[in-house]
This record gives sequence, C-alpha cells and structure tokens, in this order.
Amino acid sequence: MRIFVTGGAGYIGSHFCVAALQAGHDVVVFDNFCNSDPGVPSRIARIARRPCSVVTGDVRRKQDISNALRSAQPDLVVHLAGLKAVGDSVARPLDYFETNVGGTACLLEAMKEHGVHRLIFSSSATVYGQPVELPLKESHPLNPTNPYGRSKLMAEWLCDDFQRAEGNVSIVVLRYFNPVGAHPSGGIGDDPVGVPNNLMPFVTQVASGQRERLHIFGTDYPTPDGTGVRDYLHVCDLAEGHLAAISRSDTPGFVTVNLGTGTGYSVLDVVRTFERETGRAIPVAYGKRREGDLAQYYADPARALHLLNWRARRDLGEMCRDAWAWQRGSSTE
Ligand code: NAD
Ligand code: UDP
Repeated sequence: MRIFVTGGAGYIGSHFCVAALQAGHDVVVFDNFCNSDPGVPSRIARIARRPCSVVTGDVRRKQDISNALRSAQPDLVVHLAGLKAVGDSVARPLDYFETNVGGTACLLEAMKEHGVHRLIFSSSATVYGQPVELPLKESHPLNPTNPYGRSKLMAEWLCDDFQRAEGNVSIVVLRYFNPVGAHPSGGIGDDPVGVPNNLMPFVTQVASGQRERLHIFGTDYPTPDGTGVRDYLHVCDLAEGHLAAISRSDTPGFVTVNLGTGTGYSVLDVVRTFERETGRAIPVAYGKRREGDLAQYYADPARALHLLNWRARRDLGEMCRDAWAWQRGSSTE
C-alpha cells in the first residue's frame, strides 16, 4: 500500500515509517518539522534500507495537505501530526486546538476531495481523564482534564461525525498509553527539546550525566510503592499496532482501540529496571506530586487483541535498553 504519514518525522511517526517500509509499504512523510529534525527521513531510510518520500507542509494549511494528497494518491493516511505536551497546552490552548482539531479537519476535507477513504488516527489515553475503573476500557467515560486531551477528544469526534456523514470511510482511532524506548538500531528515538517532561527521557539523561538526578513526583499515591503507575509500551510495539490496524481497516466504520500492554509499572519499577538493564545508577530525589498527575493509568488491551490480533511483545527491560542505546548514540553524535 501507499501510506501517507502526517508527522512521520516525529518520535512515533519515524518508528511507524520504518515498520511500514520493512513490511513492504510505500511511505510518504508529510511534516512541517516543528518538533522534529529534517534529517529523520534519511535515518528512517537507512534503518529500513528503503527510501521514503518527503513533503514539507503544514496540516493546518488546507492547500499544503491537498496538494500533497493529490500528488501522493495514497491508499491510506496515518495522522500523527500534532502537538502533545500537556503543560504547554495549558499555556497555549489555541495552538493545540488549531493544530490537533483544525489540522484534522483540513486533512479530512482533503481526503474527501481526493477520494482517500482510510484513516488511522493517533489519539491518546488521556481522553479518559480520571479513571473511574481500571483497567481502562474503550467504553470508559471520556473526561479529559487538560486542553491537550480535550483537543484529542474533539478530533476523535470530528472523525466519528465525518465517518457517519461519508459512510464509505474507515477510521481507526488508536489511543496510545505511554510509548517509550527506541528502535534497537539506536538510529531513531525520542528527541525532546529542552528539559524532558516525560519520565523515560529524563531517566536516560540522568544516566548519561546530562542531569544530576531524577525528581520523583509524589511518593504518597495509593500504589504499591507510593509512586505513579503507568502502562509503558515499547514504541516498536506501538508501530506494529498501527500495521495491525491497517491490515484490518478495509471495511467502512469508526472504531477506537487502546494500544497498551495492560500492565502498570511504577516510577520506581522503571528506575530499578533501567539500572539493572543498563548498569547505570539513577540518583533520585523524592518530591511532591506533579499538578494534574493521576495515580494509576493502564489499559485493557483486549479489544486490540480481538479486533487487530495485536498485543505488545516487548518488556520493560527491552524498553529501557533501547531507550538507553538511543540516548548514548544521540549524545555522542
Ligand atoms: P512528535 O512531536 O515527536 O511528532 C509529531 C510530528 O508532527 C513532528 O514531527 C512535528 O514536526 C509534526 N507536526 C506538528 N505539527 C504539525 C503541523 N501543523 N503540520 C505538520 N506536521 C506537524 O510526537 P509523537 O510523540 O511522535 O506523537 C505523535 C502523535 O501521537 C501526536 O498526535 C500525539 O498527540 C500522539 N500521542 C503521543 C504520545 C506520546 O507519549 N508520545 C501519547 C499519546 C498520543
Ligand atoms: N515522573 C516523575 N518524574 C519526572 C517525570 C515523570 O516522577 O521527571 C512520573 C510522573 O509523575 C508519572 C510517571 O512518571 O507518574 C510518568 O510520567 P510521564 O510524564 O512520562 O507520563 P504521563 O504522566 O503523561 O502519563
């Protein structure tokens, strides 16, 4: 198939592009590189040993996306382009709605114009908000607690309404839990600008000596060791989840699917596993809870297994080893 990947140069997009190329698909990356390096597509090609096409453009600009779809004529779109930092979304909500909702509207309009009927949309488990019941099933109430989550939920609704109106369109919404790790080659990975917000990139920067210690946000959660629990998922498993969604997205309809492992690990589990797997010490400082954080968050992955025949295969040790291989490679570049 010919797959058009918005945000294909980003963290998740680059891993998806490698997996898609290796599975024999043709890939067109569409990205404005606002949060990625323009050198990423050539790294993707090096790892996959196959080139991908690249179009520089902005999903917020209808003309950019329409021109790109006209010339690419893809069978399917994977829509990953978006803004994703929760704290940043609180500070500048309009940008988040413009990109995550407005950008999705532009894309759907251009897909309609050019007769592209299949879409895989990157959503986030953050659309569930405070858990009422764990593990989180797709039927859990949707009550996001920040502008980022609300923009993702609005984009999901847009997709749902568009699918109902068009009828012959297939849309699979993937709700990711906590993607971590990197491609085992060490050639691509998470590359946050400035101080990382997320746990794993912070841990790898402490391990490499770029930061002195990890600040653990909260030790009094109602969890086995008092630190926050999340469903960490290897980014290569996540990429394979998209391939599974593609191979089962050939019938019209709208469906939401969690992509997670179903297992929660605490911050201390991550730190200890990282230390054991890499032999690096992670000094920690125990501190207060981070505002807006939830105690526990993990998926019920049953629908992904049932509908997509997909389940995560890589364990926390592999996530830590691959995150560390990427960090080592990128800090000596
Ligand atoms: P990322 O920032 O690494 O990648 C996003 C890519 O989209 C970047 O290459 C960026 O340059 C591009 N982009 C942003 N705005 C654009 C625009 N207006 N036009 C064209 N390109 C644009 O993020 P990621 O971690 O790879 O996330 C990809 C998607 O997955 C996002 O939609 C995000 O909301 C979603 N998601 C991510 C996580 C996570 O933890 N990383 C979790 C849940 C959902
Ligand atoms: N966390 C932490 N220190 C950090 C970053 C994160 O203790 O520097 C904790 C955070 O409180 C949460 C877990 O690690 O319990 C995962 O945080 P992350 O931001 O990666 O994911 P999210 O909270 O968005 O699911």
